[in-house]
Amino acid sequence: MARYTGPKCRLCRREGVKLFLKGDRCFTDKCAHERRPYAPGQHGRIRKKMSDYAVQLREKQKARRVYGVLELQFRGYFEHAERQQGVTGANLLILLERRLDNVIYRMGFANSRDQARQLVRHGLFTLNGRRVTIPSMQVRVGDMIEVREKNRKSPVVQEAQQVIARRGCPTWLEVDGAAFKGKMIAMPSREDIQLAVNEQLIVELYSK
Ligand code: SF4
Repeated sequence: MARYTGPKCRLCRREGVKLFLKGDRCFTDKCAHERRPYAPGQHGRIRKKMSDYAVQLREKQKARRVYGVLELQFRGYFEHAERQQGVTGANLLILLERRLDNVIYRMGFANSRDQARQLVRHGLFTLNGRRVTIPSMQVRVGDMIEVREKNRKSPVVQEAQQVIARRGCPTWLEVDGAAFKGKMIAMPSREDIQLAVNEQLIVELYSK
């Protein structure tokens, strides 16, 4: 399935929660989920009782949409998480959280994960001094991410840095905004990931 390119707010309305897909707009009263807190479409206001499968499916879709990952890729993350030691659901979210595009978003060098993905693709960042263009790369403890010198004046990066104060930077990252660089200083734990997703339901879905 191709990447979803339709209206982002529709996804939040479908899941019934704010997924924060549109950067600064999500923190304003223009948020579509706040203005129209029901599912999109002609029958969106009708409340239906959901089956167990539907509840599990919605949790999986929520996580997938937050990180902008395709179905097959998501399944790959799940299989990777299953092979790791520890709790599969938490492992899954940690793997997603360590994606390069997500880390850049968390550091405040992009306004949304989508924007971070595009900036990485355009080669605006270096990882440990080397230019990177793969948004799905896994960031490790000790890795240093920097905005390339010639891209530091980019209005997109400048604007994102002003907005980070609203979101706050997680404790497992250390960011020097003035020097346009940040470092991953620890592995994120499940408690560090502020995400309204019940990962256990995703594990149940894939374990059928
Ligand atoms: Fe979701 Fe609201 Fe952001 Fe739109 S503005 S993406 S509805 S959180």
